[in-house]
Amino acid sequence: MSWRADVITLFPDLFPGPLGASVIGRGATEGLWSLTTTQLRDFATDRHRTVDDTPAGGGPGMVLKPDILALAIDAVSPADDPRPRILMSPRGTPLTQATVRELAAGPGAVLICGRFEGIDQRVIDARNLQEISIGDYVLAGGEVAAMVLIEAVVRLIPGVLGAADSHADESFENGLLEYPQYTRPQSFEGCDIPAVLTSGDHGKVEKWRQAESEALTRRRRPDLLK
Ligand code: SAH
Repeated sequence: MSWRADVITLFPDLFPGPLGASVIGRGATEGLWSLTTTQLRDFATDRHRTVDDTPAGGGPGMVLKPDILALAIDAVSPADDPRPRILMSPRGTPLTQATVRELAAGPGAVLICGRFEGIDQRVIDARNLQEISIGDYVLAGGEVAAMVLIEAVVRLIPGVLGAADSHADESFENGLLEYPQYTRPQSFEGCDIPAVLTSGDHGKVEKWRQAESEALTRRRRPDLLK
């Protein structure tokens, strides 16, 4: 069974976008994962195809209506759907590589893209939506955030990237940032590749990389070491 993403959005034309390119796109062509988009507006029940309304209590912007969103969620994800239902939201739990790994090990995900001021709280509760944020900044909509999540997950699906073990020493996988990488030419603008990397001594290379990873993490992301 391949990994299945469903995305509920007001802008299905934005997909697959970057998810159609390179190894991620090829993974879909090869049936390793699949993406279905659902236009939220198709579930509107009035003549004007309304999906939003003014916030109760006042304030700027519009809020996505719970009844219409619930209809869309129920259509793509019935009560016995084993996949998590995720609402892209700046208020959510920050997306981490650990969450990405967990999602990749599961059957897929149902992703809901917000727009405007936000979403009626009652549908978040009633449909058990798990709020996930891609970072501490505010986007105009959840679509790019959903793409970020899907891309991070899909590259972990076996067969999508070339080498099976190419994830092991990547940033975050071992709680550290990745060590610096080099390739030919041997000399670039007067700078040589660190000698240890061309020494052929795998033990020394390993030690150097570990030390570089630790130093970089301590300098840039001391929070990861806690
Ligand atoms: N008023 C909201 C922001 C709405 S932004 C607030 O202050 O929390 C509109 C939509 O963009 C959101 O509903 C969400 O789906 C998406 N979005 C914005 N920033 C995001 C982020 N950092 N991570 C994930 N989704 C985000």
